[in-house]
Amino acid sequence: MKKNIAVIRGDGIGPEIVGEALKVLDKIAALYGHEFTFTDVDMGGCAIDRFGDPLPQAELDKCLASDSVLLGAVGGPKWNDVPGPMRPEKGLLRLRADMGVYSNNRPAKIWPQLADASPLKPSIVAQGIDFIIVRELIGGIYFGAHNTITKDGRLLAIDELTYSESEIERIGRIGFETAQKRSKRLCSVEKSNVLDSSRLWKKVMHRLAAEYPDVELSDMLVDNCAMQIVKNPSQFDVIVTENMFGDILSDEASMITGSIGMIPSSSLGASSCGLYEPIHGSAPDIAGQDIANPIGTILSAAMMLRYSFDMAAEADCIESAVSAVLDEGYRTGDILSGDPACIQVGCTEMGRLIIEKMKRE
Ligand code: NAD
Repeated sequence: MKKNIAVIRGDGIGPEIVGEALKVLDKIAALYGHEFTFTDVDMGGCAIDRFGDPLPQAELDKCLASDSVLLGAVGGPKWNDVPGPMRPEKGLLRLRADMGVYSNNRPAKIWPQLADASPLKPSIVAQGIDFIIVRELIGGIYFGAHNTITKDGRLLAIDELTYSESEIERIGRIGFETAQKRSKRLCSVEKSNVLDSSRLWKKVMHRLAAEYPDVELSDMLVDNCAMQIVKNPSQFDVIVTENMFGDILSDEASMITGSIGMIPSSSLGASSCGLYEPIHGSAPDIAGQDIANPIGTILSAAMMLRYSFDMAAEADCIESAVSAVLDEGYRTGDILSGDPACIQVGCTEMGRLIIEKMKRE
């Protein structure tokens, strides 16, 4: 298969971690006979320096013409005083909006080798944590009308929450399709005991369920879900939820897995072209030192193969190699525990070790 991947190395540790992910993709191409073309795109602080714009149209067009986008991270103290519309994050917001990616997907997976990094009790972690939150990204209360008025001499703040049937349907389908690619269990999270938008959410999800008979759909109220994520996270496989609930739950879920450097994410819209990035930022404090953890970015590349290119075996190959390297005790500084059997390595060496373990099953 031939795929054109737009590559945004970005700022800070971005070029280092993306460099390792590209080597991993090259190895996949060699093992499975694919052809990946990498098109470099400037976005963020580096684009401000070069063009005076965090995402010029010509750079954005390269992303829109690609089969998917791989991003490191953007931003850093150098651009902190840049005026609002020209800030590095504006490039990212523009990219998400123009790509129309309405679904943010963030896995919460604890690697058994890193179990002691979780703040949860070992007895809970031992049951396994491996689920994904599918969050609606461009609707709901964050995108409704916001207003603060004066009523009876006192201030009154209003935030409007709306969801249309079609907005729910399109994210619901991503939830079902994600579940189909995993263990076929989908938990729809809402607040239907209070909110009309949640009652519509639940109704649409159950209507869609008839189209996905292979997926088992369950419902959960968001307050219960927040509790269950820390009490019994092993019960979840795929959670689908609206924007604000997903924002809060996905941060809760990433915390229980212990390390920011390990977690990938994808953002998808109507087409198969997605945006893939680790959940962390540009880590300017460690940039240029070859000590960043590249695994979140490497796993983001694996998500790209699984969810945009339908290459499940290739994604499994990368994930198994990461697991094998962790099994052997290799750790970047952020995931190093006090265990004397562990060996500290840098960013490049971690990438090299993962590539060495990759083999076609
Ligand atoms: P950060 O995620 O960059 O760093 C937080 C801490 O985690 C730092 O101590 C850092 O060294 C460490 N860390 C992060 N990623 C790591 C990795 N792969 N390996 C080892 N350690 C890692 O968050 P921050 O410091 O709040 O933000 C720094 C910059 O990144 C800011 O300019 C912010 O706006 C930007 N940012 C960008 C994105 C993005 O591009 N999607 C997301 C978040 C933050």
